[in-house]
Amino acid sequence: MTRGKTFIVSGPSGVGKSTVLKALMEKRKNLYFSISATTREVREGEVDGIHYHFISVDEFRDWIARDEFLEYAEYVGNFYGTPKKFVDAAMDRGDDVILDIEVQGTLQVCAKRPETVRIFIAPPSWEELERRLTGRGTNTPEDIQSRLLRAKVEFQTADTYDYFVINDSVENAVRELDAIITAEHCKPADRMEIIRGK
Ligand code: ADP
Ligand code: 5GP
Repeated sequence: MTRGKTFIVSGPSGVGKSTVLKALMEKRKNLYFSISATTREVREGEVDGIHYHFISVDEFRDWIARDEFLEYAEYVGNFYGTPKKFVDAAMDRGDDVILDIEVQGTLQVCAKRPETVRIFIAPPSWEELERRLTGRGTNTPEDIQSRLLRAKVEFQTADTYDYFVINDSVENAVRELDAIITAEHCKPADRMEIIRGK
């Protein structure tokens, strides 16, 4: 058995990351979605412990003090962080890990673990992104404007990622993500290790 790999998926809020990743998890086995901790409010339809660990700012500070995070960042007024131990446990049992995190967190993870694969997901257009954010019906107009502004800043960093996927249709985006993960497992170093281990 080889150790799993970590894949970061970043992209504007509302681009469809959760939707696409849910479909990818159904298609692909041995994939562990890292559940982040956040101080933001629960949205309708979200479940504590499934979509996020919803914690208070004080609890978040405790987690930082206990060095529980692989990375953490502030995003549009709230804190978000990746609990380290579940990521490591998943990789140790051979599962690939998906981190749905923003750009600052990506920089932190890649500074510590440069082998991490970075995938940027973009909308087919800015108009479509605004439509999706509005259509989701879970954000206030002010929050949507903050997220769109942040999206345009983050988009400038997209060329530092290893892959770029356009979420025009969920089916296409899932097919490309699936192909990227498969390709990353076809690197000579990994494949040769498997053969050497036999
Ligand atoms: P994110 O996790 O990136 O914030 P969501 O997965 O919540 O985004 O998607 C935002 C909205 O866009 C949802 O209403 C979702 O149903 C819709 N959506 C996602 N992917 C597509 C797509 N390819 N085409 C049209 N609508 C989409
Ligand atoms: P949302 O509030 O829409 O769920 O997420 C807002 C942003 O926070 C998204 O860009 C998402 O990728 C990012 N995010 C979610 N969890 C984490 C995390 O653990 N760390 C970091 N750095 N960003 C996160």
